[in-house]
Amino acid sequence: MLTSEVIEKGRKHISGVIVRDTELVVEKGEGSWLYTSEGERYLDFIAGIAVCNVGHCHPRVVEAAKAQLERLIHISISTAYYESVSELASELARLAPGEIDTCFFSNSGAEAVEGAIKLARYFTKRPGIIGFYGSFHGRTFGAVSLTASSWKYHSYYEPLLPEVYHVSYPYCYRCPYRLSPANCDLECLNEMRTLMRYQVAPDRVACVIMEPVMGEGGYVVPPARYVRELRKLTADHGILLIMDEVQSGFGRTGRMFATEHFQVVPDIMTMAKGIAAGLPLSALAAPRRIMDAWKPGAHGTTFGGNPVSCAAALASLKVIEEENLLGRAAEMGAYMKSRFEQMKQEHPFIGDVRGLGMMVGVEFVHPDGTPNGDAVTYITQRCLEKRLIVHPAGDHKHVLRFMTPLNISREDLDYGLAIIEETMREYRPS
Ligand code: PLP
Repeated sequence: MLTSEVIEKGRKHISGVIVRDTELVVEKGEGSWLYTSEGERYLDFIAGIAVCNVGHCHPRVVEAAKAQLERLIHISISTAYYESVSELASELARLAPGEIDTCFFSNSGAEAVEGAIKLARYFTKRPGIIGFYGSFHGRTFGAVSLTASSWKYHSYYEPLLPEVYHVSYPYCYRCPYRLSPANCDLECLNEMRTLMRYQVAPDRVACVIMEPVMGEGGYVVPPARYVRELRKLTADHGILLIMDEVQSGFGRTGRMFATEHFQVVPDIMTMAKGIAAGLPLSALAAPRRIMDAWKPGAHGTTFGGNPVSCAAALASLKVIEEENLLGRAAEMGAYMKSRFEQMKQEHPFIGDVRGLGMMVGVEFVHPDGTPNGDAVTYITQRCLEKRLIVHPAGDHKHVLRFMTPLNISREDLDYGLAIIEETMREYRPS
């Protein structure tokens, strides 16, 4: 099909609700590169929105998926056991922290979040769910009720799920209490205590759901002290702590799961994106004692735990281990941050450089410190012209978020960083 036909048919028949980063027609992906139908290649600093952690079409993943395709494509987990799903569940039990040893598989991040909050309510017999301003948990009705990174996800869908509350995320660079980490008494955690004093009794709260590193909200890393105190607060009240690892999991932050950085063990974890190197798969995981609260039939799925997706996930986990991608993400992420710190010295419009491993965010500001989305729009567009794909985050789209494949070569990384550096020099703040 001609490139123009692909675009024309897509424009005509694919819902316009999808926000498009580019008008490219991509034919092939390999490692950190995408190849268009016009024969051009683009360096991909997005990795399918933090999905292709082992790069596009890793040969080990392709081989495993092909082998599975030839044997069994689908049967539904409620019909029979099959090897790839049992093996993946036991691998995730091995990798997950603490007592977490049981999985429920589904297809997307939002579905995993739906399952997690249903399980939390079912287990605790309580209705309340507390999330955070700025968070993104997906777009299905339950998940979108927790999502609070923009009102645009809520408008015209109301009423949303009842008994959902939000509090401030510990976003220290833009502390809602105008404190600094040095003089802060975790005021934002006190906000949750206040909520549970005046608005909802702690024994009516089923769970708190948190992104261990806020993704779409701007790649914000919470202070470890906050996460540990939150764990204590929730445990004290029998509230389940759900860590949404959909974006941060599978090596992205230099650990298998970002939660490990804070040395806390959640009650439930949600996983998707990087789990299967691009095939649709998600999971929620919890200790058996929590998972067993679910009576058979209380939740279910047709496609969740698809044999091919599970085979791809197992291959991807092997690649993460054999190519030492956790160590590599930690090392390359630190290198990326140091490069952006250098750029910050030169450019006052860079307000903050942050992240864990290869989940790196660069926040842009106006001279008065307010969020500068114009800079990010300029940089993303110019980078695209130079054949580098980068992606914004944050409520004002004022953060550049970097989620390259974890095994990107140093040469490719430097090539992309040089484009960004050059583009920053071209940018003229208005
Ligand atoms: N949770 C987090 C932390 C996410 O980043 C996302 C997607 O960006 C989701 C949930 C929703 O995942 P999906 O788009 O696969 O439904």
